[in-house]
Amino acid sequence: MIVIDAVGLRKTYMLGGTEINALDDVSFQISKGEKIAITGPSGSGKSTLMHILGCLDRPDAGSYKLAGEDVAILPSSRLAEIRNKHIGFVFQTFNLLARLSALENVELPLLYAGFRDAKDRAAEALRVVGLADRMYHEPNQMSGGQRQRVAVARAIVTNPAMILADEPTGNLDTKTGDEIMALFEDLNKDGRTVVIVTHEPDIAAQCRRIIHIRDGKIEDKSISKGA
Ligand code: ADP
Ligand code: MG
Repeated sequence: MIVIDAVGLRKTYMLGGTEINALDDVSFQISKGEKIAITGPSGSGKSTLMHILGCLDRPDAGSYKLAGEDVAILPSSRLAEIRNKHIGFVFQTFNLLARLSALENVELPLLYAGFRDAKDRAAEALRVVGLADRMYHEPNQMSGGQRQRVAVARAIVTNPAMILADEPTGNLDTKTGDEIMALFEDLNKDGRTVVIVTHEPDIAAQCRRIIHIRDGKIEDKSISKGA
């Protein structure tokens, strides 16, 4: 089953009178349960693409069907709803709220979605990422790896079918990065679709398919290993 169907995606930024083609006719499909790396040099359009896939932004042209629904044309309110329902997003810089505890950070998506048992679910998500004993810590009382675990817990707490991560190990040392990758592997084994942006070849090598992007275009050398 195809969960991501992108056709002819374009995104152009204007900067100081110059046009930047951040995405230039990008088309690809991702099936349910895949684990995919998107890789490419800095400035090649990876984050722009992830923000569109994650319904955080919209393409200027092209179509993007998420689980069969064309989301490129939806109003912002519906886009937020779809995002909350289908997608867990993990950022390179964690993006946690500093004044909230780990538990409160993880609860947030549930509160937006109107869950009653938010606290229990958030506590369970923190247990899954190995932070049962850090629930009441605030981000600045945790290591980088622990912060990213909180961010992963926040991404999975609504039980989304798809996890999108934009350079999730970029601010972590190798060992801590490997631990975060092991979490993504577990989530993928549970049947979730996982898309990871990285420019680290050994991280990309842990994915069954690699999409290479350069200057806003998908390169032909994008490969797929086995089934
Ligand atoms: P990557 O994540 O691969 O480093 P990005 O998607 O962040 O690349 O950026 C792709 C291109 O678009 C870069 O040239 C970048 O400078 C430009 N860009 C990204 N966001 C903006 C923006 N908000 N305004 C203007 N240019 C942008
Ligand atoms: Mg980026």
